[in-house]
Amino acid sequence: MENAFLIKYGEISLKGKNRPYFENKLVANVRKALKRFRVAVKLKVGRVYVHYEESEAAAVRDELARTFGIISFARTVKTEKTYEELCAAASVLAEEALSGRERVSFKIEARRTDKSFPLTSYEIACRLGEYLAHRHPRLEVNVRRPDWILTVEIRERAYLYGPPQPGLGGLPVGCSGRGLLLLSGGIDSPVAGYLMAKRGLGLDAVYFHTAPFTPEQSKEKVIDLVRTLRPYVPGLGLFVVDFSAVQVAIKEKAFHNAVTLMSRAAMVVIASRLARRERAAVLVSGECLGQVASQTPESLSFTGSFADRPILRPLIGLDKSEIIDMARRIGTFPISTRPFADCCTLFAPEHPLIKPDRDRLRGEFLDLGLDPLMEKAALSVEKVDVDGGNPKDGRQGDSDPTGSAAPGESQIRR
Ligand code: ATP
Ligand code: MG
Repeated sequence: MENAFLIKYGEISLKGKNRPYFENKLVANVRKALKRFRVAVKLKVGRVYVHYEESEAAAVRDELARTFGIISFARTVKTEKTYEELCAAASVLAEEALSGRERVSFKIEARRTDKSFPLTSYEIACRLGEYLAHRHPRLEVNVRRPDWILTVEIRERAYLYGPPQPGLGGLPVGCSGRGLLLLSGGIDSPVAGYLMAKRGLGLDAVYFHTAPFTPEQSKEKVIDLVRTLRPYVPGLGLFVVDFSAVQVAIKEKAFHNAVTLMSRAAMVVIASRLARRERAAVLVSGECLGQVASQTPESLSFTGSFADRPILRPLIGLDKSEIIDMARRIGTFPISTRPFADCCTLFAPEHPLIKPDRDRLRGEFLDLGLDPLMEKAALSVEKVDVDGGNPKDGRQGDSDPTGSAAPGESQIRR
């Protein structure tokens, strides 16, 4: 008897001639996710099997549940094609289905592609059903509304599996190319990265750090966000840009009400340069229509005009409550809500521009003469090694999330 998870990957099978490309990506991602376990991952005629050691079953299951491209997966037992072996394997799966439950109703669905097997599909279902009901008195046959369906397939070997567990769906990460995620310490951008990875986009993240105005903990927050996203986004790397000089120049030279928009524009310029260097075809941001002044159509049009490639904004039509629900589900919410300030909140004007005239403000941005500073920032990007250590999740306090006064903040107020 051999244990395996049988993985189903619906949408990939729609991709015609490209199918092998998607399948190989999925297999590679599953292997990467499971590299610390004793597993064998095999692709066989439209199915992926993961053979595992029983003692690691739960941990392997958790990883598969976080791998994009998997529609569902089911624990499968593979046996020799004898009636006795079928009974033994069915019994193992029945024990599992019964664990912690008083009674379980069940039915068996049998399929036989190997017609040399001496029992028909119908006979397999009847005989195995009788055997299980007799062997496990808490099981009862109910073919109309069963709690549990045991599927038996007789092919080159016999395969038995219970109901599949849903996966995350989506496409294997990497099959849609690569993007660069603008990752702040906030709630939105980690969710944006998650959603784009779900559609197969491989990602690196870039964080614009404004030390000493924002504390070191703001950077640690972002590192922990990357660690939390990594099980979903294999290979997610982190670049940190020293944004202080650019930010200070903007604060000194720009009209006060345009400071946030000018900072955002500078981030887009630097991110575009980094994306070109790292061969990322698109930028990804956590912007959402109408959420704040810098996210009106006019503001987005201004900041977006500095990108030399598309900016994907997967949250654009979502409500904050929907974004928060997702952030909680993927585990980033307690990290995002740690009370450490981001440069956006520290430098934000009281009455920001809401409907900027795009071309006029573009002219003002160019007049700021930020190019040498932006160039310097782009060249001195730090690639952070986020491996090792676990995310310190959980809120570290319940005060105002923007409340911790950053050292030096007052020095640059005009
Ligand atoms: P978030 O919750 O992701 O911070 P937000 O609603 O607070 O989003 P803003 O702070 O206006 O919105 O930022 C809009 C987007 O700009 C962010 O979602 C992120 O993609 C990007 N961004 C903002 N600040 C930074 C930063 N310091 N580093 C990297 N990206 C940033
Ligand atoms: Mg923010």
